Amino acid sequence: AKERGRGRVEVFDETLRERARARLQLETELRTAVDGDQLRLHHQPIVDLSTGDIVGREALVRWQHPVEGLLAPGAFLDVAEESDLIVDLGSWVLDEACRQGRLLTASSTRTHVAINVSARQLGRPDFRRRVENALATSGLGHGQLILELTETSLLKAAKSTLADVDALNRAGVRLAVDDFGTGYSSLTYLQKLPVGVVKIDRSFVADITTDAKRRAIAKAVISLGQALQLDVIAEGVEDAEQAAVLADMGCRQAQGYLFGRPTPFEHLVGTTTGS
Ligand code: C2E
Ligand code: CA
Ligand code: CA
Ligand code: CA
Repeated sequence: AKERGRGRVEVFDETLRERARARLQLETELRTAVDGDQLRLHHQPIVDLSTGDIVGREALVRWQHPVEGLLAPGAFLDVAEESDLIVDLGSWVLDEACRQGRLLTASSTRTHVAINVSARQLGRPDFRRRVENALATSGLGHGQLILELTETSLLKAAKSTLADVDALNRAGVRLAVDDFGTGYSSLTYLQKLPVGVVKIDRSFVADITTDAKRRAIAKAVISLGQALQLDVIAEGVEDAEQAAVLADMGCRQAQGYLFGRPTPFEHLVGTTTGS
């Protein structure tokens, strides 16, 4: 028994070591990707449910890995979050999304570009300055940039961070609560912070046509949003039935495969600037 016990420990050690090694390699490669030219942005449309018009786009990061090909954030964001890489990655996304967003919204300056901001990025003392820089450099207009934050990072944020967010909001940057309904949902931050948008997490939308409880939650969120005069965006809308149920509940905006997949910036400008 003792022998086998030790054997197990060794196997366990080996697995841990292997995992740590793979993680370290991923971190090294991601560093190269962030410093080099391997990150990309894909843009997914957000539409008005009654007209079908595009009201904005969410920029989603991708990694064009030299060997593995195009990687979604699920493959590398954890590693980025656990190191400081998320800060540099986030800065790249901020600058690039503003630059690309300016080009994508050139013909309709009422549309917005939304980016995801991690807690660690938000907590940096220079976050506000970086956002102001990105706006000034890109020329993106008042109200055109939305920062998507999760409930958890909003609740974790320090006073000084919240003051910076307030200042940014006064300068025309809008704030969205991402994955709404999946966090602690204390709701108190909705009155303390200049939140203008809530995004209903796609887990509530997924079975909205079949699950009465989820439908009730979605409905409550939409009503809450209306009462607080927030824009409510339903995420992960994949079929017309879901869209119809949401529209019936008074939801005005939606995002999901039904309306458009995340698409490389190059493809989007290709259709507008191509001769
Ligand atoms: P998210 O912010 O909730 O973004 C929406 C995710 O849902 C995206 O996955 C999008 O491709 C996917 N999606 C959109 N419509 C549908 C649909 O109809 N059905 C289904 N099943 N999925 C849909 P993606 O691009 O893999 O991103 C995953 C997460 O990674 C994002 O979730 C966000 O939390 C994070 N993320 C993405 N880009 C960035 C970034 O630049 N910075 C940071 N910090 N996080 C990012
Ligand atoms: Ca998001
Ligand atoms: Ca989301
Ligand atoms: Ca999410």
